[in-house]
Amino acid sequence: MSTLSEISKIVKSQAAQFGFDACGIAKADYLSNRANVLKGWLCKGYNASMNYMENHFDKRLNPQLLVENAKSVICVLISYNSDFRQSASAAKIARYALGYDYHVIIRKKMNDFFSSLKKTFPQISGRGFVDSAPILEREWAVRSGLGWYGKSSAFISPVFGSFVFLSELIVDIEMEYDKPLKGNFCGACNKCIDNCPNSAITEPYILNSQQCISYQTIENKDTTNIPTHGWLFGCDRCLQVCPYNKRAKICNHEEFQPVAEALSMSIDDWENISEDDFKKIFEKSPLMRAGYDKIKQNIKNIRQ
Ligand code: SF4
Ligand code: SF4
Repeated sequence: MSTLSEISKIVKSQAAQFGFDACGIAKADYLSNRANVLKGWLCKGYNASMNYMENHFDKRLNPQLLVENAKSVICVLISYNSDFRQSASAAKIARYALGYDYHVIIRKKMNDFFSSLKKTFPQISGRGFVDSAPILEREWAVRSGLGWYGKSSAFISPVFGSFVFLSELIVDIEMEYDKPLKGNFCGACNKCIDNCPNSAITEPYILNSQQCISYQTIENKDTTNIPTHGWLFGCDRCLQVCPYNKRAKICNHEEFQPVAEALSMSIDDWENISEDDFKKIFEKSPLMRAGYDKIKQNIKNIRQ
């Protein structure tokens, strides 16, 4: 019979074995501290047309509604920070979207990780989440001691910065829990707020999606009605300027290497690409989420 501390150690060592850069564990409590924050954000309409954010309000806050008898939330983090940069003439694409779709890569890792845990702890049951269900992933990552919220509202790890993917495994066995990091990590810095081209960060820690280029170039199905400042897909200006990201560890994980064309294609190239070529080159890319027509619309917006 393992102690809670031993169980946690085994879980973390297996997470590392399956390629996750960090793992923290939080108690599967109700997220009472986020209820008013989420309500206030929705009331202001800052979710823009993402109506799904209004659904499953209780599930977002209560892990018991996602997994029966939930006891622990295992949070894993993997960095997509690399040395690769787009050429100066390339149409701007958020760094996470330069390579293959992370959902597919991380889901496979998560499934393998969970299968391995099941072999070690045959009584365990639960569910893995890779950006796939109503779950407040940044809050769980904070609670499990992996990092904190920046004023940009992005999650920041002290080692890996914000160029990271988070995913979670909610399980029904108890473990030893990590403690959230304590401190005012942003201090007097306001770089993300000052450098957002559309003032989408309305106040520290609050993001208005309607003004955010990332939302406008990916999620907004209608014609974009704000300037997108040369961004073709997503935007990570607020992350680029963050001092924590400037000194974040560069992992260069092979599975997140960029598609060559994403690094080099100019607006002219994007304007001329056929739908067939787009699908061929970006078949496994997150750009497929927006789709060819949306990308074309984004180009028009850049040209305006
Ligand atoms: S992603 Fe871009 S538009 Fe959105 S908050 Fe960050 S800098 Fe502003
Ligand atoms: S840019 Fe500055 S204020 Fe914004 S998240 Fe980073 S440290 Fe915090």
